[in-house]
Amino acid sequence: MKRHRDDLVQYRRTGKIHCYSSLVLESNDYVVNTVELYPCECDTQVCTSDECKQRLCRREGEYIRQYKKKFGELCVNRRIEGRTGKERHIENFEKYNVKAKEYSKTHKEEIYLRNKNYKKKYPDRVVAQAKAYRERQRFKKSCDGMNLIEI
Ligand SMILES: [Zn+2]
Repeated sequence: MKRHRDDLVQYRRTGKIHCYSSLVLESNDYVVNTVELYPCECDTQVCTSDECKQRLCRREGEYIRQYKKKFGELCVNRRIEGRTGKERHIENFEKYNVKAKEYSKTHKEEIYLRNKNYKKKYPDRVVAQAKAYRERQRFKKSCDGMNLIEI
């Protein structure tokens, strides 16, 4: 709550939204409820463990997922707390893939030139990357049917 209040002060000063909670606080029309008591497993009085914080964040993320599912756009949370970049990527793979395809269609010339320059500038890297790519493909093939997601 302290962080959300600090965000609100920033939002009022700059007009920039750092966290959507600012809009909720600004409306002055909200109730604060505890949805669950979720104590640490570490049993210390004042916990500073990153592991516990992460566990708490992931729990918050579960609530956010539920609310997003139930209320859609009405859920003010944008970010799913505790989710790793890799998980986000896997969950949004279709969306990112479509965007990437669109981009490569509309920026063909630019991409071609960028790749050409890269090859000229870093020939060693290009050889190493091609080799790594072939190895990954070989690995993927050997894992066929195992439902392996690789990014
Ligand atoms: Zn703890």
